[in-house]
Amino acid sequence: METGKKEENRRHCLKCLLREMDKEDYMDNLYDYIQRLDADIKADQALYEERLSVCKECDYLESGMCRACGCFVELRAAIRNNQCSYGKW
Ligand code: SF4
Repeated sequence: METGKKEENRRHCLKCLLREMDKEDYMDNLYDYIQRLDADIKADQALYEERLSVCKECDYLESGMCRACGCFVELRAAIRNNQCSYGKW
């Protein structure tokens, strides 16, 4: 029970900086955030996958980040009205 409570607290640390989180917590938070995006701003799954497939072929992609804009491409692609800085999607 205590472990479950601890897990819950770790997943919802809204005020932690990246340097204050361990890598696993950070990734959990990132994916939780994407999942919890409001439906009215979130890209549908087909659009999301289409965008990520473009990023996967792009020279600016490095370790999940776009070197052109500095964002995490999975987060940028998840928001319907976002655009690629280089007009690739
Ligand atoms: S957002 Fe655009 S520039 Fe950045 S990695 Fe994706 S396709 Fe490339």
